[in-house]
Amino acid sequence: MVEGSSKRKRPNILVTGTPGTGKTTLSTALAESIQFRHINVGDLVKDKNLHDGWDDELDCFILNEDLVCDELEDVMEEGGNIVDHHGCDFFPERWFDCVVVLQTDNTVLYDRLSHRGYNETKLSNNVECEIFQVILEEAKESYPEDRVVALKSDTIEDMSRNITTLTDWVSNWHSAS
Ligand code: ADP
Ligand code: MN
Repeated sequence: MVEGSSKRKRPNILVTGTPGTGKTTLSTALAESIQFRHINVGDLVKDKNLHDGWDDELDCFILNEDLVCDELEDVMEEGGNIVDHHGCDFFPERWFDCVVVLQTDNTVLYDRLSHRGYNETKLSNNVECEIFQVILEEAKESYPEDRVVALKSDTIEDMSRNITTLTDWVSNWHSAS
């Protein structure tokens, strides 16, 4: 097990991936099943004003990375967190024992995001992000490769299998101390 995770009694998991891949759905179900805290970074940013205003072009808040990291530091030190966010390069590497990148078939993702009412630009930006595996690359650049796992998230069966896989992983996790 990686040094630096030594003080935590329970691990921290980052669930990342392109918008629409199922991060919030998986994180909610997993948190309930293993009694971990689910931290939806988008909601946190909105609720606690951890942003520098609204980006009209990208149609989202301009997240303030320093404020987000300061807000989460203490709780991350405790362990037992599932952090749900579409980006992963600004969190301290030491926070996470496992980085899950959800992946969804392009046409499935397109349908999910159009259901969500995304405009053409936002739709094509996100589908392109998925096609080019932008988040997986970001995760591999930001964390040791043995901590990053890509999981398919096309169907309900995929979701159930992912919950089982991660529940097993957590029960086998031991802190380094
Ligand atoms: P994200 O948080 O990554 O943006 P959500 O969890 O909000 O994604 O999921 C987007 C939509 O896709 C929701 O309607 C959800 O019910 C559906 N969904 C998510 N994961 C799956 C899956 N594995 N199989 C089928 N539908 C899914
Ligand atoms: Mn979400």
